[in-house]
Amino acid sequence: MDELYTRVSSATKQVLYQHMKDNNISLLNYNFNHFFQYCIKKYKIQVISHHFSNYKIEGLTIVDELGISFSYEIDNPKVKQNFTLCHELGHFILEHEGIYFAESIENQESLLEREANIFSAVVLMPDIVLLSKIYYNCETFQRVQNSLEVSKQALLFRLLDFLREYYPDKDSEIKQAIETYIEGNNASIYRLFHDIREQIIGEFHQFQPSLINQVKQRVRKVGFVTSQEYPDLLNQDNWKAIMDESINLKIWLVYNKGKSIAYVWDKEKFSDKEARKKAELQLLLM
Ligand SMILES: [Zn+2]
Repeated sequence: MDELYTRVSSATKQVLYQHMKDNNISLLNYNFNHFFQYCIKKYKIQVISHHFSNYKIEGLTIVDELGISFSYEIDNPKVKQNFTLCHELGHFILEHEGIYFAESIENQESLLEREANIFSAVVLMPDIVLLSKIYYNCETFQRVQNSLEVSKQALLFRLLDFLREYYPDKDSEIKQAIETYIEGNNASIYRLFHDIREQIIGEFHQFQPSLINQVKQRVRKVGFVTSQEYPDLLNQDNWKAIMDESINLKIWLVYNKGKSIAYVWDKEKFSDKEARKKAELQLLLM
């Protein structure tokens, strides 16, 4: 087994899967951009394009007093730009030491570059998404490639690396399965996925949305929740994060005779008074 691949892909999934769970992201409509934009915003990263006429630099990361910026070659095809941007994000999220990374064809063999490439491949094509699309939804190679906005080569290598992790001594079988899959026959790759599907799903479900995100998802749906559903809401240490992150959410507490209920509501859906009434009613029924 390739230890580097396993180590980096699992570090990538730690942040990516948590993000997917927190935001309840659809597996069949997955696209890297949601996670990418979230990171860009969170870390205030600037994304710009560049073009040098004399030499080819696929991508750049620069960290200086102005902040962090990623740039990509504007003449490259979109799929290549996507790969490069996720690669630059990899240097950042994997905390590679350095204030300057430049991607050219020559430097891709160094350890940090390989790590950033693995990060990029996993973010563009997560295990759980490949399983959903290829195994459960029986999508063709072409369709998977198009929907994830990657090149043919990127998907091919990703499948190869990914399946090798699970089947370290079935190299020729894996190659054969991918080859026939590209040609439009999914029987062999389907079988390979079949035997590892539970592992992939289990890994994904180890991650759960944080309290704040569970509450937010629920309030978005129904407009009102209380500490009867989420007892941790009674802990006021959690309040700030809930109010900070979304301007439409409010949180308050009602109490009577030693009992209390904390409640969160969407102020677009319920007025303060309405929300308080709902909470008092629950308190009465406790
Ligand atoms: Zn790099």
